[in-house]
Amino acid sequence: MTELKETAMEGYPASPGFAIGSALILKLEHEIVRQKKILPAELPGELERFEKAILQTKEELLRAKASLSSLGLTVEESLFDVQILALEDEMILQAVKEKLQRDLICVEAVYQDIIRSFIAGLNKIGEDEYLRERAIEIRDVAKRVLKKLKGEEGYNLVLEAPKILIADVLLLSDLVSLDLRHVAGIVTEDGSRTSHAVILARSQGIPAIVGVQGLLENVVNGQTILVDGSKGILIVNPTEEKREAMRKQALSYLYFTGNEEKVFSHPVESLDGKKVTVSANIEFPQDIPVMLKNGADGIGLYRTEFLFLKSNRPPTEEEQYQQYKTVAEHAKPNQVIIRTLDLGADKVVAYLPWRWMEENPVLGARGIRISLKEKGMFKTQLRAILRAAVEGNLAVMFPMITDLSEVFAAKEMIEKAKAELSAQGLPFGELPCGIMIETPSSCLIAEHLAQEVDFFSIGSNDLIQYTLAVDRMNNNVEYLYQPFHPSILLLIRMAAEAATKKNIPIGICGEMSSDLLLLPFFLALGIDRLSMGSVFIQRTKRAIQFLDVGKIKNSLEPLWRAKTAQETFEILNQVARSFLPTCFFDS
Ligand code: PEP
Ligand code: MG
Repeated sequence: MTELKETAMEGYPASPGFAIGSALILKLEHEIVRQKKILPAELPGELERFEKAILQTKEELLRAKASLSSLGLTVEESLFDVQILALEDEMILQAVKEKLQRDLICVEAVYQDIIRSFIAGLNKIGEDEYLRERAIEIRDVAKRVLKKLKGEEGYNLVLEAPKILIADVLLLSDLVSLDLRHVAGIVTEDGSRTSHAVILARSQGIPAIVGVQGLLENVVNGQTILVDGSKGILIVNPTEEKREAMRKQALSYLYFTGNEEKVFSHPVESLDGKKVTVSANIEFPQDIPVMLKNGADGIGLYRTEFLFLKSNRPPTEEEQYQQYKTVAEHAKPNQVIIRTLDLGADKVVAYLPWRWMEENPVLGARGIRISLKEKGMFKTQLRAILRAAVEGNLAVMFPMITDLSEVFAAKEMIEKAKAELSAQGLPFGELPCGIMIETPSSCLIAEHLAQEVDFFSIGSNDLIQYTLAVDRMNNNVEYLYQPFHPSILLLIRMAAEAATKKNIPIGICGEMSSDLLLLPFFLALGIDRLSMGSVFIQRTKRAIQFLDVGKIKNSLEPLWRAKTAQETFEILNQVARSFLPTCFFDS
């Protein structure tokens, strides 16, 4: 028998973990709906058919939501609410009705046409991840509606053995129509890392890879596929050695994610007794169960702008209050640091139209700059946070600070919001008030800033972008995006020293926070609050317990003389490996 050829392919890691299984290709229906002419007299009937299809689809979505909650998967339920919003989008429904009356062709052809141009419009706006997701959501819902119009049923695939789903784009509706217990892994050619199907995969611990070019040309149904969702690598027809290597990695992965061992659900201590909190970064209240399962010590970064990106108007005070309250109640008694709106750069909303005029948005109105321009919106958010602070342990944090005046202006807005709430007799809680340290200027004036705020949190993602003048979204200059660059380490040290001198806590919430090679460095600087993606929490907590901060400080001396990112990397690598068992570096 000839041995099958092993092929490796790469995409973006979307949900960590390892899986092996046989490929199941989910084909998108490319079938085009035929444009059948209708008579004016048939118009009411077509309209009725359309309205019925919308109604049936809504019922189907509500049923899917209920079936998830009966499985205990309450987190994902709200994903269906987003789809129902897309289904009932007034702009789309109106456009269908108008085109139907104007063109007199069957309603499925009209609907397909409108959806296509709507999606094309969203995709044209640019590389924005949120709009891409919205397009996927609309496509998913439209697929359901078209099935109803054509009188077809759903997928109804019966999975009996672990399968690796292979698709162009995986839609949420596809995923929930399958028995998730038999979905071992997911690989898609297109798709975004924050699509709802991927969010669901992550919350279910299903490894996933997105953006694998040429996937559908290179995989056939039934082939054995090995998925490394942590690195974004898939291997088709893996050899026995590869399978064995993966089994080992998978065991150590399970160990580090706490799926097998006891979860550390309290702050851990270093070998020499230094307490460190390891909290979660979240985007939606739906992320709470995952962060609790991973033993997070609260939430170190709640990116509230995702709430603002979800609709075509800013959320009301009440909508925000409900969300912040939910998060506060679930994390209690642990702290939740709510970051105020960080719109701008790659996060755009259509309801702030002046934003589109900027030629260089990364250096334009973003974060606190937008909040201080849109004071009404900012005050509404602060009122909601202050009110929710009654329900738990909340703190507020301002993004993109470059100047003291911004801190004064933001704090003044808090006072105004409090005065209004008092005048209205509405209860509110006290809020520690901190800032993101994510620009070089904030590091350079950190001592002055530390005088005015209750805590710092280093946003390393942007600190690297602004210090090294390298757009974090631009692949052409990705090689210059160097977390280990000596300038970054020096700026972090500056901020940490200022915080220590003024006796305020300092944490880190950018992606650097989960890098094991940097962990000894952070602890040595007195950074004892780390906030990260939930899946990294257990690994980090385990690692902290192997470190002796006093000893690390001595071994880091050469770091301050290093001239390049390569040199700092080598030193940090050596230090981390001298303290941590080798198994940490295999996971
Ligand atoms: C950062 O800049 O490091 C950060 C945590 O914020 P964001 O990634 O949301 O810009
Ligand atoms: Mg940032």
